[in-house]
Amino acid sequence: MNPIVDKLGRPIRDLRISVTDRCNFRCTYCMPKEVFGDDYVFLPKKELLSFEEMERFAKLFASFGVKKLRLTGGEPLMRRGLPDLIAKLTKIERIEDIGLTTNGVLLGQYAQPLYDAGLRRLNMSLDALDPVIFGEMNGRGIKPDLILSNIDRAKDIGFTIKVNMVVKKGVNESEILPMAAYFKERGITLRFIEFMDVGNDNGWSFDSVVTKKEIYEMLRKEYELEPTEEDYYGEVAKRYRYADTDAEVGFITSVSESFCSTCTRARLSSDGKLYTCLFASSGFDLRELIRSGMSDEELRDAIVGVWERRADRYSDERTEQTVKNRKKIDMSYIGG
Ligand code: SAM
Ligand code: SF4
Ligand code: SF4
Repeated sequence: MNPIVDKLGRPIRDLRISVTDRCNFRCTYCMPKEVFGDDYVFLPKKELLSFEEMERFAKLFASFGVKKLRLTGGEPLMRRGLPDLIAKLTKIERIEDIGLTTNGVLLGQYAQPLYDAGLRRLNMSLDALDPVIFGEMNGRGIKPDLILSNIDRAKDIGFTIKVNMVVKKGVNESEILPMAAYFKERGITLRFIEFMDVGNDNGWSFDSVVTKKEIYEMLRKEYELEPTEEDYYGEVAKRYRYADTDAEVGFITSVSESFCSTCTRARLSSDGKLYTCLFASSGFDLRELIRSGMSDEELRDAIVGVWERRADRYSDERTEQTVKNRKKIDMSYIGG
């Protein structure tokens, strides 16, 4: 089948699959504990896509141009048996790359089984080296030492690792330089993520964002940075190399320099809804279709129809009004 494009001429290249809406953290910017408290109702198991359903969707998406898969959540390692899913996905023809985004808490236990199942790339989230700052940001008092030792373990096993740090004004700016020094030393790429207005409950405002420019200026006082070439069409991170080293640093600038014009990402929620933007209000129910016994051909037509109607460019259009008025899905539900 020919590659398909949306209304703005963007092909579909990446599929992010959220495997669970649950998480063992309560990051203030994603699942604030005041909202995701003890009585919060998560999806029951029967509403989650099975691994077989995810595999079937991944094959269908691969048939019209998806080359990269990313597993995310919630916390994906909380979905039991995840290495079994990896083993299925690595066998799909035309899929060139599979990544997993994780907070890393359970990685000590799962790194080796995931590697054995064929996973090679991990994005790990860590917002601070300071235990007090990190413990407050993750909402569970989890110490950075645990994540750092799991990063070392995964690196020793052979994973390629990138670390993601969400930067919030007045909260963890003081950690920018220590984090940069720590990961540069280890040759691990650190990516600074601008705090985004995902969901409706994370207290976001333009004032709470530390922009790429601000972070770059801080780094430039300490290091010589050389911009690197874009690796592929639609690459999200702007990357720089520390001069005279192989170590890199990146920026994900959803707020200050939006990248909607080359956005090739589709997202499948853990209950089987297809979303064409991280900031969408609603999704297209693929689970209902797959469970009604539709053929591959019928499912393919439905997915192509959704992509061909796509005109999302939320970050290009973000204003104080959209931030306040638009009802958006939660990040923990759809994944990053
Ligand atoms: N639980 C996993 C983790 O934290 O890596 C995977 C899911 S999490 C939703 C995926 C990514 O989204 C993480 O790197 C996280 O830091 C990022 N994220 C969550 N909320 C965000 C926000 N409001 N602004 C920017 N990034 C955010
Ligand atoms: Fe959980 Fe990841 Fe959201 Fe933090 S960012 S609450 S670890 S899903
Ligand atoms: Fe893609 Fe939506 Fe993000 Fe724009 S705002 S880059 S369309 S996910």
